[in-house]
Amino acid sequence: LSFAHCRLPEKIYDNLQQIEIHKPTPIQMGVIPAGLAGRDILASAATGSGKTASFLIPIIVHSFALSQYYQSGGINDSNGGPYALIIAPSRELCAQIEQHTKSLIQGLPNMKTALLIGGYPIPNQIHRLQQRIQIAIATPGRFLDIYNQCKAAHNFFANIHILVLDEVDMMFKMGFETQLMEILENLQIPLGSSHRQTLMFSATIPKNIESVASSVLRDPIKILI
Ligand code: AMP
Repeated sequence: LSFAHCRLPEKIYDNLQQIEIHKPTPIQMGVIPAGLAGRDILASAATGSGKTASFLIPIIVHSFALSQYYQSGGINDSNGGPYALIIAPSRELCAQIEQHTKSLIQGLPNMKTALLIGGYPIPNQIHRLQQRIQIAIATPGRFLDIYNQCKAAHNFFANIHILVLDEVDMMFKMGFETQLMEILENLQIPLGSSHRQTLMFSATIPKNIESVASSVLRDPIKILI
């Protein structure tokens, strides 16, 4: 498998070349096609495996397509909230993921990110969310602070089509299990509405993570590298 086989929008392909990503890593060979096909995924992947690009590529392709669709039809997408939400355990990791996202969306029109992490004022981040952004990247704590303090945020986050939980084992180790559950509860899709795609990544997949996965993911593809 090569990136050319994935039929990515040309710009994304060019951007990959720009950052010296030429040939997919094993995790990318598994996650990218399944992600593009809309499947839920449970993947075990360590840092350095290329896992970030493996979830960013399907996210960017889908978000870009949705954003083009809404714009070309002149349709007002209900609330303008982000299409994709990535939850990761630390501020540093979130910032890295945002940088990686920015390098891959360069040159794609109307694609914007929001970084929702501690250490910066909440009102600025809420303001950012109101700028028709496509991809939000958040730590569990800051996501919940925004969600609980701002009624409008409930509306923004009703638009999430793809949810990524990155480094789930680290989130559990850092004691974010309850917060993670609260986030999942808040983002629950009403019965009967269309499915949201969820991708879970973890370096290891012990029993407790497996059980969260089986309660959250629908007919997931398991990719164990
Ligand atoms: P990650 O495992 O997502 O933290 O990525 C680790 C590093 O590998 C990042 O600097 C990526 O830019 C880089 N990388 C990701 N995918 C590839 C690839 N297919 N070929 C070469 N480098 C890559």
